[in-house]
Amino acid sequence: DRIRELLMLYSAPDSAAHPVSSLHFTKENLQEALDDNQFILHYQPKVLVQSGRLVALEALCRWSHPDMGLVGPAHFIPLMESTGLIHELTQRLIDQALKQLRNNLDNNKAIAIAVNMSPVVLTDTQLPDELYKKTRALTIEPELLTLEITESTLIENAARALETLARLKMKGFSLSIDDFGTGYSSMQQLNRIPFSELKIDRSFVQSANLDKTRKAIIEANINLAHTLSMETVAEGVETLAEWHLLSQLHCDMAQGFLIGKPMAAEDLPEWERQWTE
Ligand code: C2E
Ligand code: CA
Ligand code: CA
Ligand code: CA
Repeated sequence: DRIRELLMLYSAPDSAAHPVSSLHFTKENLQEALDDNQFILHYQPKVLVQSGRLVALEALCRWSHPDMGLVGPAHFIPLMESTGLIHELTQRLIDQALKQLRNNLDNNKAIAIAVNMSPVVLTDTQLPDELYKKTRALTIEPELLTLEITESTLIENAARALETLARLKMKGFSLSIDDFGTGYSSMQQLNRIPFSELKIDRSFVQSANLDKTRKAIIEANINLAHTLSMETVAEGVETLAEWHLLSQLHCDMAQGFLIGKPMAAEDLPEWERQWTE
């Protein structure tokens, strides 16, 4: 069938994190790397489950380290947050993502880009105005920029974060709740913030076709999201069996190694060519 054909099992060269799990960096290392523009974005496709059509790209940060090669976000995001450098990193990454979005629009591709937002930057209530100015400068519709926010994000500095999120929504940006179901307060957050998308965490998606509990959780989350007029994205889809289950459960979008790994912007056209073949 068509979906099976679409799932050519093409995946781009692995752009995953550096294998070493305990790299140690200092604030000075990070500041120098920021000044030298060593933080780059890779992009992972989000596709519609029904048709396979590409609808969005999630931007994932990598450190293109001069000696170590590509270093994954787990190795530097926590230090970026604790040192406050995350504000500068976020501004630079948003600039990169918007440049890519503009480039896609110039090629007649209205593909949303999703950027991951740290809880720390949500304490900055100026952020919505700044992001809005950036989109205006490039004549980009704010709704094409999705901001992915993890649930745990919302717990600290709740009042401020909620205010920033409400302002982002008022400016027209799309808000996505990331890793849904892994925090403590899923339900509470949902009725306080107008999210347009709910991302089902990989831990539920993995082998869900073989696990009744996971399947039930996915089904409940999809029903909840649809009742609240939100779209659903399953993350970490690695097998055809998982894909078929998601299709049965009316999940809107899928993301994962089955479809495509995070890749450099220059590899996207080749991925798309193979995917739509
Ligand atoms: P996330 O937002 O949940 O992103 C999904 C992670 O799962 C990514 O890891 C991605 O490469 C990986 N992944 C995608 N599909 C599959 C799959 O099918 N199987 C498996 N096993 N893994 C898959 P990555 O790029 O290492 O990012 C890890 C986390 O770091 C992200 O989790 C996100 O929370 C954070 N992060 C990444 N980029 C940024 C950023 O620019 N800013 C902030 N604040 N956080 C970021
Ligand atoms: Ca994410
Ligand atoms: Ca996620
Ligand atoms: Ca996740």
